[in-house]
Amino acid sequence: MIEHIAARTFLYSTEALVFGVLTFLLWMFYQGLGRQYVKLWTVSLGFVCLYNIIMVVQSLTALLPDTVPSKILLEWLYQFSRFMFITFLTLGIFSAKKGHRIVPKVVIISIIAVLVLSVLNTLICAFDPTHVYDRFYLRETLPAFLIGCTFFAMSSFLIWHKPHHFSSRIFTYFSIACGGKYLFYSFASTVALTEWWFQYLQNFSMYFDIGSSAVLGFSMLIWMQGAERNAAVTAMNKAQYLGKHDSLTGTLNRAQVLERLPTIMEKSARKDNKLCVILIDIKRFKFINDTYGLKTGDFILGEIANRIRNSIFKPLIVGRLSGDSFVIVIDYDNKQEIEQVTHHIHELIGRSFQFDGQDIFVQCSLGYCCFPQFSKSAEDLLQNANLALYHAETHNIASTEFSHEMEVQGRHLLAMEKAIKHGIKNEEFELYYQPQLNLLTNKLEGVEALVRWNHPEKGVLSPDAFLSDVEALGLNSRFDVYVLEKACQAHKRWIENYKKRITIAVNMTAVEFQDPRLISTIQKFLLKYEMSPKYLELEITENVVMTDLHMAMNTIVTLQNLGIKVSIDDFGTGYSSLAYLRELPIDKIKIDRSFIKEMASNDSDVTIVKSMIKLSHGLGKRVLAEGVETAEQLQMLRNLGCDAIQGYYISKPVPEQELAKYLVRK
Ligand code: C2E
Ligand code: CA
Ligand code: CA
Repeated sequence: MIEHIAARTFLYSTEALVFGVLTFLLWMFYQGLGRQYVKLWTVSLGFVCLYNIIMVVQSLTALLPDTVPSKILLEWLYQFSRFMFITFLTLGIFSAKKGHRIVPKVVIISIIAVLVLSVLNTLICAFDPTHVYDRFYLRETLPAFLIGCTFFAMSSFLIWHKPHHFSSRIFTYFSIACGGKYLFYSFASTVALTEWWFQYLQNFSMYFDIGSSAVLGFSMLIWMQGAERNAAVTAMNKAQYLGKHDSLTGTLNRAQVLERLPTIMEKSARKDNKLCVILIDIKRFKFINDTYGLKTGDFILGEIANRIRNSIFKPLIVGRLSGDSFVIVIDYDNKQEIEQVTHHIHELIGRSFQFDGQDIFVQCSLGYCCFPQFSKSAEDLLQNANLALYHAETHNIASTEFSHEMEVQGRHLLAMEKAIKHGIKNEEFELYYQPQLNLLTNKLEGVEALVRWNHPEKGVLSPDAFLSDVEALGLNSRFDVYVLEKACQAHKRWIENYKKRITIAVNMTAVEFQDPRLISTIQKFLLKYEMSPKYLELEITENVVMTDLHMAMNTIVTLQNLGIKVSIDDFGTGYSSLAYLRELPIDKIKIDRSFIKEMASNDSDVTIVKSMIKLSHGLGKRVLAEGVETAEQLQMLRNLGCDAIQGYYISKPVPEQELAKYLVRK
């Protein structure tokens, strides 16, 4: 008997030590990882350690009767630590597998349940020496049954919940084995408590517990290591995904599209399939951003990507090339299919976007190019689709297919780009000036700067010959700044040479006028060329204002506060109304020459011009008539109360040396 006690004491002390170390290890892991399941398991192993310590004390006090209070307390502690072990182990596995946090309420309820159960288990029949069997059933049979069932529940949970990685499988086998052992033990204790072999079963159970808890401790360590590796891999995959995908819309980014497209092209060439690359540009997207805010803009872009990705035509690639331009690649059998797809895209994007209770509508332009007909390489395909898109945008067509004429246009643009950049560098662009006459004072009121290109081969070119290319190449901004600086330089020269200060009007394209850097650029030039802001006037068209009313308003107000004038060019040809202009602090309205041209022969034009002048004056704006070519037109305008005129009748746009005669003359 003494030997038996010594052996048990030794076994349980070793176990207590091993589990003490494991608990400590797990606790260290928890400190590093901060995962809840590790914490739950640490508690669970801590109770295994406590359980073994109690077993040591129990074997040392084995000879005392069961009913003394200290043994009853020990008994309760024994029950409590067993239930705590299984409860926290289960909670930990649930949390680890599901990736959920167990809320404190659940943990507290579990602890209370364990407390109640262990107290009941221990106290019922505890003090009565005659109830030795009932006590055994309560302390061993019932807990073994409960623990066995819990293990089986745990194993089924692990089987149902994928993935089954290595440590999860070990846990499953472990809980099946433990569940089986506990249930069998529970069953055997009710039927064979007094049989000789039950003694052997008890001994076996003791060794089984020791062995299985060791397996458990190490499976936990393996699980944690695996889980952390998985977390690291997931994080790495995510980083890789974000590197390849556009983070806003989840579509591929430009680099990735260019990487994937050749593979898809190769595959479809092998199978004799046809591909179509479609570029989508959202119209006036900047307007959405400015009016509704960037958040709304981002939402709409994400939503567009979603709609395209989930569309019925199942694109092979969906990518975002830049701010508001998308690319999709589809395969098709006949041209009709492409038409259906483009039609469908317009419909998808044209549906309302609901954000913050608002219905927002956008439109798009499409340009597409087919493979293998038109392009051999991925770059070619994209470039040609881009040319088609450009064609669609400039001609205001919903969708356009690439054609070889566009390629000619593309080549032309390429050549022009080189020539224009070269021209800017070599100062081949010269400003001509067209005088503006004040009809009230009959004096020069200012000049409009109009650009000419002294082309090394083609001679003097008028703006019509190259401005559309400048725009197509996106060089507007650079060009306008260049002209602006030249105008400021000229103003300084005229003061030095003729002691004359006159207003210079400079034409501004929409792109430049909407550039937030415009104001500081102007300020820089005014300072550099010692020019007073009141001698600078910017001409913008109604369309510039209408594209982005809010933005235009801000810029015009800022310019006016600086003392710079703003006039509306080509008035009457755009789509604005005078009602809008009322709000804008504009100085001058320039009536387009098409109205002036017909005035002498067409009564209705006289009426229009008359009402334009009247309305403008009503809004407190000055009026200048453009394109006055005859004395008759001049007289009519004078009679209508027009403030100023500009046109061939006074002078064509002239180079600087010819303008001198107006500058010296009083
Ligand atoms: P615009 O601003 O309406 O300029 C007036 C145009 O009408 C000028 O053509 C001018 O030569 C022409 N014009 C003036 N008086 C008469 C007339 O009595 N009869 C006729 N038939 N035409 C007249 P230009 O210089 O060829 O300029 C064409 C357009 O190019 C300009 O129209 C303007 O929109 C643009 N542009 C010219 N220079 C610049 C520039 O430096 N920057 C920018 N962004 N655009 C410019
Ligand atoms: Ca103009
Ligand atoms: Ca004009």
